[in-house]
Parts: sequence; C-alpha cells; structure tokens
Amino acid sequence: MTSPYPWPDGKRAALCVTFDMDAEAAVLAVDPAFARRPSVMSHQQYGPVTGIPRLLEMLAGLGLRASFFIPGFSAERHPGAVAAIAGAGHEICHHGYLHRPPGLIDAVTERSELERGLEALERLAGVRPTIFRAPWWETSIATFDLLLEYGFTCDSSLFDKDVPYRLGIGSSEIVEVPVSWALDDWEKYAFLPDPPTGSGVIESPARVHEMWWEEIEAYLEVGGCCVLTMHPFLSGRPSRVRALRRLLEKASALPDLWITTVGEVAAHCAGADVPLHPLSLPVVGTEPALPVPGS
Ligand code: ZN
Repeated sequence: MTSPYPWPDGKRAALCVTFDMDAEAAVLAVDPAFARRPSVMSHQQYGPVTGIPRLLEMLAGLGLRASFFIPGFSAERHPGAVAAIAGAGHEICHHGYLHRPPGLIDAVTERSELERGLEALERLAGVRPTIFRAPWWETSIATFDLLLEYGFTCDSSLFDKDVPYRLGIGSSEIVEVPVSWALDDWEKYAFLPDPPTGSGVIESPARVHEMWWEEIEAYLEVGGCCVLTMHPFLSGRPSRVRALRRLLEKASALPDLWITTVGEVAAHCAGADVPLHPLSLPVVGTEPALPVPGS
C-alpha cells in the first residue's frame, strides 16, 4: 500500500524515538529554590544518573539511533551523560538552557536561553545543534525567527499535523516535525507532589505499551510520523524500559516503518515534494476575554 506522504525507500510511515533529558532544569525553571531540596533534585537526577545508561544500552541492543533534546544547564550538570549520548552516535538537539518555555518569558531571556543552550552543547557534546524543541513545547511569536537567525533547520514543538512539513517563516522556512501529548510519557508516568507534576496517575507500562502500539499502527495507516517523546527520569525506570524495549522490538519488525531520527526526517522533508505551510496565527482585537467555562 503506497503512503500518502513521500517517505523514502517505499516506507509507509516513520517513527522517531526522542528523549528530553530535562533533569534538574525542568523543576528549577518553575522555582530555583528547588535547588535546595535534595529529594526533588534526586528525582530529576535519576534521568542522567540511572536512566540514560539503561536507555543507551537498550538502544544499542536494538541497533537504534535516537534524538536527545538536552537543556544546556542539564548538560553542564551531567557532562558524562552528554558524552555517553554523543559517543553512542545519537542525535544531539537543543532544548533551551534552564528549560524556560519561550512562550512564557521575555524576548531578551528567550535569546539568552537559545545562545547559552547552543554554547553548552557545542562545548560538551562537540555538536552545534540544528534541531530545536521548545521546553514544554511552548513556543513564542519570536521563536521561529530566532531559530532561523541561529541556523536551525528543524523544530519539533508544534501539533497541527501528523507528518513533517515545511513551515514558512516570512520569506524563509524551517522543517517542522510535529509532536503529540498522546505520545509523551509525561502525563503517563510523571508524578511529583511538589512542584505538582503530571496527571496524578502513574500509568502501568503495559498500558502505555498498548496505547503507543495503537498509535504506531494508526500512523502506519495514515502514513504519518510518530514522534515518541520520553524523559529519562520517567521512562528510564526498569519496568518502563522493559515495556519500551518490547514496543521498539515489535516496531522494528514492521518492514513499512522507517525508524529514524528527527534530523533524518527533517533532512528528507526539506528535499521532498511537500507543500509549504506558513505559520498561521489568529489576529485578535482588544475585546475583553470571555470567561472560561467552569472557572
Ligand atoms: Zn523538556
């Protein structure tokens, strides 16, 4: 069955395995005072300290290459983890500096986050990243112009399509590899009482395996790009790595599925015959906001 999307080599759909190595930065962005709370910090440190080695071993066993999005601050805190990721040949991608969401900070801070994140990854991973993912997938109106200015060729923070596409920014463009909360481990596994994190329910790995397998099958049906987003401090736990290994083993057995990195997908999309979609935002007046139902 031919894919509606021009995937290479007769593939019908793509699967990207991505990890956001947020570590301490995700919590410190909420409040730097958490730096003085060892238990909260250790919850985040589980990712680079324990999760990353286990995940790298699993990926090596399966012969898969993944994309790692690393905040600069977390890279500086855990240079050994960064070196191990880069040394294993995985893709190093930008994920802010202190994991501050561009949509919620001012323009000066956003530029500084971008610059400091680039500097840290260049220094510690030996790579100048060209792929960006906004912390919390929360971009600002300035984000895409900044990405072009700093030489990025790909973003993975938007939600509007099932396939990668050329995102028009003024007279220029960038490749967008869209994401989905359904494919994120955050609301499945995250549970932290303070700062309140996650949905409040810790999902069983078997259930997550089932949910994501349904997603992969559906992406194959529509010819899409399934982007799994996981966090080593969550998905690096033993039972979750086991479930993920089973999922990726099953996915690897699908001949129509291209398991690859965000960068490979972006490079393919940039040269493929796919339409250009300009960034489209609503224009609003100065009318007072409507009350939110239920609030
Ligand atoms: Zn993150």
